Order: sequence, then C-alpha cells, then structure tokens
Amino acid sequence: MVTPLPVKTTCPYCGVGCGVVATRYADNSVRVEGDGEHPSNMGRLCSKGSALATTLGEHDRLLYPEIGGKRVSWDAALDAVAEGLRGIRDAYGPDSIAFYLSGQLLTEDYYVANKLMKGFLGSANVDTNSRLCMASSVAGHKRAFGSDTVPGNYQDLDEADLIILVGSNAAWCHPILFQRMMAAKRTRGTRIVTIDPRGTASSEEADLHLGLAPGTDTILFNGLLTYLAVLGAVDRQFIANHCSGYEAALAAARTDAVTIADVARRTRIDARDIERFYAWFATTERTVTFYSQGINQSSSGTDKVNAIINCHLATGRIGRRGMGPFSLTGQPNAMGGREVGGLANQLAAHMGFDNASVDRVRRFWSAPDMARRDGLKALDMFDAMVDGRIRAIWIMATNPVASLPNSANVIAALEKCELVIVSDCFSNAASLRYADIRLPAAGWGEKDGTVTNSERRISRQRAFLPLPGEAKPDWWIVSEVARRLGFHDAFSYDAPIDIFREHAALSAYENDGARDFDIGELADIEVEDYDALAPVQWPMPKGSGEGTPRLFGQGGFFTADGRANFVAVTERDAFASAGSFYPLTLNTGRVRDQWHTMTRTGRSPTLSQHTPEPVVKLHPVDARRFGIEDGGFASVRTPWGEAEFKAEVSEEQRIGSVFVPMHWNAENVSSGGVAALVNPACDPISGQPALKHTPATLRPKFYRFRGFCLSRRRLTVPAGLHWSVTRQDHCYAYQIAADGPPNGNWPLWIRSILKCEPDQLVTMVDVRAGVYRYAAIDADRVEACIFLDRGGDSPSLHWVKGLFASETLDRLPRRILMAGRTIDGMVDPGRIVCACFSVGINALMAAISSQSLVSVEQIGASLKAGTNCGSCQPELREILRRTDPPDLIET
Ligand code: SF4
Repeated sequence: MVTPLPVKTTCPYCGVGCGVVATRYADNSVRVEGDGEHPSNMGRLCSKGSALATTLGEHDRLLYPEIGGKRVSWDAALDAVAEGLRGIRDAYGPDSIAFYLSGQLLTEDYYVANKLMKGFLGSANVDTNSRLCMASSVAGHKRAFGSDTVPGNYQDLDEADLIILVGSNAAWCHPILFQRMMAAKRTRGTRIVTIDPRGTASSEEADLHLGLAPGTDTILFNGLLTYLAVLGAVDRQFIANHCSGYEAALAAARTDAVTIADVARRTRIDARDIERFYAWFATTERTVTFYSQGINQSSSGTDKVNAIINCHLATGRIGRRGMGPFSLTGQPNAMGGREVGGLANQLAAHMGFDNASVDRVRRFWSAPDMARRDGLKALDMFDAMVDGRIRAIWIMATNPVASLPNSANVIAALEKCELVIVSDCFSNAASLRYADIRLPAAGWGEKDGTVTNSERRISRQRAFLPLPGEAKPDWWIVSEVARRLGFHDAFSYDAPIDIFREHAALSAYENDGARDFDIGELADIEVEDYDALAPVQWPMPKGSGEGTPRLFGQGGFFTADGRANFVAVTERDAFASAGSFYPLTLNTGRVRDQWHTMTRTGRSPTLSQHTPEPVVKLHPVDARRFGIEDGGFASVRTPWGEAEFKAEVSEEQRIGSVFVPMHWNAENVSSGGVAALVNPACDPISGQPALKHTPATLRPKFYRFRGFCLSRRRLTVPAGLHWSVTRQDHCYAYQIAADGPPNGNWPLWIRSILKCEPDQLVTMVDVRAGVYRYAAIDADRVEACIFLDRGGDSPSLHWVKGLFASETLDRLPRRILMAGRTIDGMVDPGRIVCACFSVGINALMAAISSQSLVSVEQIGASLKAGTNCGSCQPELREILRRTDPPDLIET
C-alpha cells in the first residue's frame, strides 16, 4: 500500500495566509491540518481552515466548458473567447473589453491576465474584487510611503504592548491573528483596544472598546495626533529626519478636533474612554494599529488610512519590533494581485502608468500594445457596461452579482454586455447565469502557484487533488486565449514556475532600489527550489539571500526624496444627504464560519451550523422605534433596494446602526441578500465602495407561521415564502416563514414545496394549535419534511436532521419525526457554538450549570468545545460572563 503523501499548501480564505498540510488517502478522503512550520499560523487553523476538507468534492462544480449553456470542447470554448475579444476590440477599441479578477487567483494566474490586457490588448481595464477589500489601504500607503508597502509583520503582534483594532472584527475575520493577540495579552499583558461602531467578538475580549459613530474614525485619529502634539509625545527626530508635511497634517487635524471634548462630541464616544485610549497610545512605544474593512470600505477610506498612519509617523513607530500601522487584507492573495498589477490603476510589479514605467514594462514584455493610463475601477467598469463603453468582460474566480454593491446595476450591466465570459470552479455562482461562455477553472487543492498574505509573505499553494472533469488552471486558460490571439511567444508558459520566474525578473528589472517590490533573488529559481519554496517575505532583491521582515524603521521610504508624507486629512460627512427617509446606517461584514458568497464554505455542513441564516442586527431602541421583535422579521430598505431578514435585537449594535452579513445572496436566501442594498458610493481616491455605510430604514414584516424544512434535494421554493438554505449532513435545511397556503389547501401547498406525490405525504396537523407537520416518505426513506407553527417553536432541526442519516425510517423514528419530540431523552443541543465538535448552546449551558464550569479550559475539558480551532473561544468566554444557565437553555 502506498503511504499517502502530505502536501504543504496554504488556506484559500483570509489574508492571514495560514499554512496547511493536506493529505489525500486512497479512498479519496482528505485530511487538512495546520502546518506547524508555517510562520503565519504555526500549526493553528480557524474553523474555516479546519473544515477545508468538508468543502471538497465534485458537487456544484463547473466541470466542462460551455457556450450558451451547452457543453463544448476546450478548443471550441477558447476559440470563441479569442474570436469574441478580437472582434469587439477591433470594432470598438481596446477599452471596450475588461477583465474582472479576484483575490482567489494565484499570483501566476493574475500575472498572465494582467499582462495580456495591459501589454497586448492595450487596455488597463483590469480590476479585481480586491477593490472592495483594501484599495483604500493601497492608496493610503502610496500617499504616505510612496509605495504600497506593509511595513511590519505578524511577529509584531507577539511583541506589541498595545494593539489597536480599527474597523476589524479579527476574532471572526482573521481568527488566527486574533489568537496571537490573545496570547500576547496573556503572556505579556498586551492591551487591546477595539474601535468599531458595533460590539463584536473582538471587542468582547478588548481592554477598551470605543463604539464610535459610523464614519468618524478620521476625527478620532486626528484628535490623537493633536493630543500627541500637545503632550509633546511626538518623535521630533524621526519627523525631522524621515518625514514631510507634519505641520500641515497637524493643522488639518486641529480643524477636526482640538480637544478631547471635541472628539467626544463628534464621535459620540465617552470622553473618559477617549482620554484613556490617547494616554495608552502616547505612553506605549510598542503599538500596532490594525485596520481592515471598517476603515477601507468607506467613501473616505483613504483619508482614514492616512489619519492612522500619521499617528505612527508622528511617533516614529513604524518598521520596528512590535509597532507600526498594519493593513489586514481580506483575501488570500489580495497582496499577490497588487504585486502583479491586478488593480486598474497599477501596471505590474508595483509600477504605475508614468511614462518611464510604461516604457520599462513594454520593453520587458516586448509588448505590442501597452496600456498607457489607468483603466476603469470595478464599479466604473460595470457602469461602462451599462452605457455600452465596455462590450466584453471576462470574470475570473469571483461572483460580482452577489458581491458588488447595487446588484441590480451589475445584473443590468451583464445583461447588456455583448460577451460575458466567466471562469469559475463552481456552477452555483450567481454570475454564471449571465455568462455566454463558461470556463471550468481549477479550485483549491487542484492548482499550483504562489499567494502573498497580509505581511508580504509569499507562500506556495500546491496541488494535492486531480483536476475534476475538464477543469484547467486559470493561467493555462488565459495563456491559451493569448496564443489564439497571436501572442504565442509571450505566453508560451508550460508551468506556473515559468510565470513566477518572469514575475520575479520583472520586479528586479531596472530596479535600483527605487521600487519596493523586488524579488529578484527568485528570478532564476530552479524547479525543485520552487517546489520546496518556504514562505518568504518580500522584498528579496538579488543577492539578499533572504526576505525582509520589516521596512522603514530607519526611514528609506519609496518617495522621490525618501521621506514619508504626512497627509493632511479631515473628516467628510458621508451621510449629509441621506435625510430622514433613511435615518439608519447599514453596515455589512462577515460571520465567523462563512466566506464571501458561500460558494465554497456553503458546501460544508460543519460551517453552516454556527450562523444558519442571515439576520439583521439592531439595537433595542431601534427595534421599539420601528416595531420590530427579536426573532421576528424586518425589511431593510435603502435607496438601492429592499431585502428582508430575520431580526436579532442586540445591545451590541449602536443605536441608529444596523448590521447584515455579506455572504447570503439570491442562491441561498429568498430576499436576495445584502448586495442589492448597499451603497455604490466610492472613495474618490481609491475607488473602493462604501460597503459599511449605507443610509437605510426598516419596517416590520409579519408571518403567520414559522419553522423549517429539511430536504435531501435542493428545492425550488414557491414565491411568497421567506426562506434561507444551508447545507447539512444528508440534507438541505431551509429556515422558513410563511402565511400559509394562498388557497387554504395545506396538503397541495406542502406538496408544491416538497415536490412529492399525495401517497408519500405523512401528516400531523393540529389546526387549533396552529401546528402543521408533514413528511415526504418514499419507500420508507424520508425525503423531506416541513414543520410550521404559529408560535415559532418547532422542534430543533439539529436532531430532526439526524433522521436523514438513515436510509429507512421504521415505525418508531416516524413517530419521533411527526411528534417533533425525542422519546429517548435525547437533548437538543440548541444553536451550535463550537462548529468543530457540534457543541450547542444548550449542551454548554447544561454542562456549565451541572459541573460549575468557570473557564474556557474547563469547558474544553468537559465538552471539547473550543479545543480545536479556537474560533469559538471568544463566544465561550462571553457565555461564561453572562452565565445565567436556566435562562439561556433553548427549549
Ligand atoms: Fe484560513 Fe482561518 Fe488562517 Fe484565515 S485564519 S487563513 S481562514 S485558517
């Protein structure tokens, strides 16, 4: 028997970039563990990384090329792509075509797509979903440093004495980094400050939480700059030796906030908390400020980034151990995309569209038709499709219908566009519906190349699975199209290493140290060294022999004079025109166990347990104001659309601010999800949409019946029902609310939902009590069931779904099913808190109560909860803090 070979690769989700070890066994099962040697995670994985093996398999995969919905050969598909692009380019010019890429692509994929468009098709219309994630950080870095450089690394977390998280729920969105922060808190007493309009799992663990009014971050940091200046806590020497523009930035800051009272009034934070935060910052040399989407996804995101960087420059706290401003990227290869020019306003290897750079890249590529100016950024690109300027788009590894703001406009754009090409792994991505040509791409575990994480660390992604169906790597697909367009020599790659070498060589080409991104040391890498490449941080110029952990500790910025720029910024009011029609602010973000539009994580039953449906979170004051009950339903309306969600009333929300998770879309929730609602306004500098800041209002929705439906097959749910669906072991679970059958005929209506024959329907109805239970049973196997009642207290689906594990349902389990109660004393675990071990809130509360558990460690010892990935530990601590066991047990 052949011993399975473990393969080292990287997690395909967030920008932490954790190393994993994947082992494929003879029965095709896969085991995924953390890579103990990867410096980003040192063996740890969060819930999403731990569940990677449960997302694999061929179901919902796009397996064959298709034109017009019909399977075709690769040759036919590639010819059609090339002919389509050529025809539209010849007729309407280079700027009539566009590529929309993704932080899911590997650097090698990104490189060839960018090269084809910007060097050979003559347009810079290449943008990426990373525009939604961190474009404001890129713009802020370039304004301050002259380059898109993250100065520090993750080790700074371990060595900081103060960690500030701004607009970042790292406990859920960058969990392994958050665990490192918590370890620093335990071992060296590191203080943690969270700055976020809403309370989160991260703020629960913080020493200080500043729940500022949405959009007021610049005021808070301008106030800090003013405070540092007044206190004399600035590093005059660092400013004099290495920076420009300090006085102008300070003068601008003073127009926003002179005193702490000013800051408190405008941010609506308690003045004592502001003073405490400012005092900690002023007196703590080793301070790291992490910022993420809460900063970037704003119509003034770039200014916010610079307001933060200004404070670090003023104190000289940059590029040294345990300190610095630190942008956390959301995607696994957002940084790799930036390196190769995946954004429309970048060229390649961190070069821009200045004449010297365009000429340099033209010579390096021997490019016949170089783009010479910025292309259209993501939202502008889709607007240009609506008005006919762009007539062909190639979308790779992303799902804009479900992820871009104002999805109605995205759909209109795709419907109008003459040629829509989509390369994707999954057949259920909403954007595929609008594709003329569908190309099956290799997925995680099947493709080979490199990615770069938030700390500039380049790691290998390695294949450990065969390509399913006729799927192909993206770099291969793009190169084949390029060859058909006549660019044989420039795209004659045989393997990812050929592309990587060229990418590395370009980074070093005519680079005398003036450009930050230089990995010339790797330009001649041998095949075996590429295969074995250990994670390394750029820059790594030729002859360096090793990577660079930190930059700028001694200055050396990439501006013309080598000095960093303070940027004078003041807060701009994003909501001035919203008016009383939309008195609330809609914020969006991630939940703990899902990723983006759920095409991958939605396949995992394990990951569907913690948050089984999207909810709108609102403060009790707003709930009263709009007449909305906890557990009821609310319609969220914005100037761009309306969508309905279950309501969760929580004091974690600020009054006036509501939150809806970003993941659900038309594929998995009846209302179509949040993309239809969000504000398409962009930061004028970075072009990043203001996904966290949408003017909104609410109205209550009422349904007579609530419950759930479980089905072995995906259902086509009739109109008029509120539903959301997740994948469970052996079945799909639909959370349902409805007013009942439109014509009063329950059996007919139920059969239209469950898709079964009259003789397959088993019924238990109590009309007076408003209880309706039906099961579709075929040859003793339960195919589907539905539980609806007026009180909304159907039995827990957690144990009903267990009946789907069995192929036959004899008398006793049938009675159990229809009774909605176990008769063997089995305890309903309640809402799942620990996804790794399926430990629910009821089981937790019972153990806490009966065993007098007082710590996360004791819970782990008793129930194993929290002992694998640790992602649920903040929630376990919160449950312990709020312990009132009898009240918390769900019945
Ligand atoms: Fe993957 Fe989690 Fe690591 Fe992010 S923190 S890279 S999602 S394992």
